Amino acid sequence: MRCPFCNNPDNRVLESRSAEGGQSIRRRRECLRCKRRFTTYEQIEFVPVTVIKRDGRREGFDRSKLLRGIVRACEKTGISQECIEALTDEVESELQQREVREVTSNEIGELVLQKLRYLSEVAYVRFASVYRQFRGIADFIHTLNQLRNEHHPASREEIPTNNNLVAENSGLKMEETQKTATFAHSEIR
Ligand SMILES: [Zn+2]
Repeated sequence: MRCPFCNNPDNRVLESRSAEGGQSIRRRRECLRCKRRFTTYEQIEFVPVTVIKRDGRREGFDRSKLLRGIVRACEKTGISQECIEALTDEVESELQQREVREVTSNEIGELVLQKLRYLSEVAYVRFASVYRQFRGIADFIHTLNQLRNEHHPASREEIPTNNNLVAENSGLKMEETQKTATFAHSEIR
């Protein structure tokens, strides 16, 4: 950062302060040569992220679309709106901080799942069912087994394939989950 008065590249920072509600940092600097003072602002780089969809089409990352998908998955799970917003923010800033400006919808989905896993198993399975495009009960069972094995790596027991048992064991109502999944489908893709 060169001095605006004498073009000298060396200066010292006198004061750093958060500005614009934490979106930038304001720095008061003093030129080491002419001793004059000037102010600089440092901002987080905000570059548009492009999402590559399953069918190969590209579109700009849309935070509200992602938020809607997560809200649907979290319906009636008791997860607060603040929590959902924070999760969405986290995903967005992780995408923002990547070197690559393009991301597949798949990667976004996995990122969301990583975070949902610790919040709610129901929301996790619902979200997975939408973005992984579950086709039937087998996909649910597979995901539930994965979830279970991650939570209890020692036991590694399989959930029986009988539908009623699955619902009982997992605390999930399959019908309801599937309905929600279908409903939320259009939001994620
Ligand atoms: Zn100067």
